[in-house]
Amino acid sequence: MSDENNMQIGTCRFCGQTKTIQTIAPVSQDELDNMATDMCICPEAEKLRRKTERKSKIEQFINHNFKDNELKADIHNAIDMIWDSEHKRHTTHQSITLQPTEEMTIKIWKDADFNLRIKAKTVDDCELKV
Ligand SMILES: [Zn+2]
Repeated sequence: MSDENNMQIGTCRFCGQTKTIQTIAPVSQDELDNMATDMCICPEAEKLRRKTERKSKIEQFINHNFKDNELKADIHNAIDMIWDSEHKRHTTHQSITLQPTEEMTIKIWKDADFNLRIKAKTVDDCELKV
């Protein structure tokens, strides 16, 4: 805590490359390693970054479009199931369809380019009979 320009060493969790990190406050080794992994350009670190980015985009999409907490949990479960099949290339086109209400269908699938896709459809016909 004494030095203003404290230099600390972090290690990439994947390839073991070390990075010198300038810290202004005490940082745990765990955090230093996370930072080093974030900075690293090895393929595994890159892959983790992409996955983290995708996760936060998914999170944003879900929070923005769905209000119900139970439904959000269902969507996350479906995504996990599809992501678990990531290493089994033959299950590329696996898809899960949720129907939380009569008016709404949510389809979650992985496309041919291994992107995760979510599509929610609502029937918003307006009808009145008096
Ligand atoms: Zn690395």
